[in-house]
Amino acid sequence: MCIFCKIAAGEIPSDFLYESANVVAFKDLDPQAPTHVLVIPRAHYENAAELAAADSVTMSELFGAARRIASDFGLDGYRITFNTGASAGQSVFHAHLHLLGGRPFAWPPG
Ligand code: 5GP
Ligand code: ZN
Repeated sequence: MCIFCKIAAGEIPSDFLYESANVVAFKDLDPQAPTHVLVIPRAHYENAAELAAADSVTMSELFGAARRIASDFGLDGYRITFNTGASAGQSVFHAHLHLLGGRPFAWPPG
C-alpha cells in the first residue's frame, strides 16, 4: 500500500481538514506556503490524469474540497497544482491536489 493509501485508510494517523466518501485532505509534511494542503482520492490512482480518466466525479470533488478549505482558511487567492510525472516534480505517485496559499506566488512557476 502506498503512503497516501495508508493515510487515507487511517493506518497513518493524520488530522483530516476535510473528509468525504471519496476524498480526504491533510496538511503537507513539508509546507511550501503558510497554507499547504493536499487533497487526495481515497482510491489509488498514479496521478491526476489517471484519476480524471477513470473517475471524473472524484476529480471534481478534489476541487470542491479545495474550494471549501480555501474558504475555511480565509484565503483570498490561492494556487492549485497537480504535479504529474517525475519531470514535473511528482514524488508521491498517488494522485493529489496541492492547495497553496497565504503568500504571493510568482509566474511562471519554477
Ligand atoms: P509531489 O511532489 O508528488 O507533487 O507532492 C508530494 C507531497 O507530499 C510533497 O509536498 C511532500 O511534502 C508530501 N508528503 C510526502 N510524504 C508525506 C507524508 O507522509 N505526509 C504528508 N502529510 N505529506 C507528505
Ligand atoms: Zn495510493
